[in-house]
Amino acid sequence: MSARLSDVVRIASCLTGARLRFRLLRGRALAAYQNARARRLLEFAVRHSPFHAQRFQGHDINRWRQLPAIEKQDMMKNFSSYNTAGIPLEPAMKVAVEAEESRVFTETMSGLTVGLSSGTSGHRGIFLVSRLEQLRWAGEILSRTLPGIRAKGWRVAMFMRSNSNLYATLGSHWLRFQYFDLFTPLQESVEKLNRFEPDVLVGPASLLSLLRREKTDGRLNIAPIRVISVAEVLEPQDKEALEGAFAVPVHQIYQCTEGLIAACCERGSLHILEDVIAVDLEVLDQDEESIRAVPVITDLWRTTQPIIRYRMSDVIVVEKRPCGCGSAFRVLRAIEGRYDDVLFARDADGGLKPVFADLVRRILLLASDRITDYLVVQRTLSAWDVNLDLDSPEDFQMLAHSLEQRFQKTLAGYGLVAPEINVALGVPARDPLAKKRRVRRTFPMNCVEKGDAVTA
Ligand SMILES: [Zn+2]
Repeated sequence: MSARLSDVVRIASCLTGARLRFRLLRGRALAAYQNARARRLLEFAVRHSPFHAQRFQGHDINRWRQLPAIEKQDMMKNFSSYNTAGIPLEPAMKVAVEAEESRVFTETMSGLTVGLSSGTSGHRGIFLVSRLEQLRWAGEILSRTLPGIRAKGWRVAMFMRSNSNLYATLGSHWLRFQYFDLFTPLQESVEKLNRFEPDVLVGPASLLSLLRREKTDGRLNIAPIRVISVAEVLEPQDKEALEGAFAVPVHQIYQCTEGLIAACCERGSLHILEDVIAVDLEVLDQDEESIRAVPVITDLWRTTQPIIRYRMSDVIVVEKRPCGCGSAFRVLRAIEGRYDDVLFARDADGGLKPVFADLVRRILLLASDRITDYLVVQRTLSAWDVNLDLDSPEDFQMLAHSLEQRFQKTLAGYGLVAPEINVALGVPARDPLAKKRRVRRTFPMNCVEKGDAVTA
């Protein structure tokens, strides 16, 4: 499907605007810019959402940074009165779950895209996005991924967990998107990539590492000019290996359902996109160089499902010094809540295959809306422990049984031998300052690669 000319113009104008703001906005000008956008957003939210009208009653919206913060549970509990399009929760949830199950993402509600999210907070959530908001998102991503506009156009290969109707609409002479489902068998993706010859390769860090091996072994023949890591934290050693294999700089984009949060500059620093999202910090601790904090975010552009003074579940570390690139946008040193490990399972031939945390999250997400928190730990190759918090403990045995089956069926669908799944009630308490990892592996991979017996 071709993009409408007006869409392409809209993306291009976002692209130019984003670049100028990144370079020029600072100090009082930046604060004034955020204030103006936030006031517009708040006025709109109060007018179109009963939840926000009530939430901000008696508060001065000019002092929006002092407004009390809310969390994901507040948003989901009040979904129908929270969004500004008057979409009720039940039918929206039905559309989102059906799309995840069937992996066909074409259905919209009143012209809005509905998506299902697990986020890092463990609760099942829903997000609504308008077409304009999607185009803006694409413009923002592209302004950070494309080196500029060129006559013969760009080809962008994007690996995502789930498609949305956005990608299908983004195909024109100067910009072609090819979408790849994250769970397409690797060999198939490699063949598709070789045919498509992307200029820009976008995907989660763990997937990029697998592609790196394909490139080093000579099966993957692409020569992208940019490689972009999204959705997972890119460890320094992986970044170095990727840059070595593809011989190009590897950039990072930090985003979640609640919005686009940070992207890399030319120097490789991860800058908060202060013109897109206002980030206030609830400080946990700090030293001379950096601040460790829980971010409270306000998305300055999204209006369908407004994100205003919203407390995230991630812990971030913000640099106190500005980046040498000249932008005054603050730099993130680390995102501590998003380190997810890759689990491993055997295939029919005994080979080891990665199981991304994202797939595990999706299995939990689709299993039941009664799961309020979870922890999945792979202690050995053959046994995974799944701990659940439920809104009420009734029928736990039944739920545990159906969850085991869901794991087995899903993994078998990818040609994997399912491990033993041990489901238990109750998620152990975590240290609030510790890295929050809901999916993790606790045995060293080098044992597995050598084929040694693996024990806890
Ligand atoms: Zn920079």
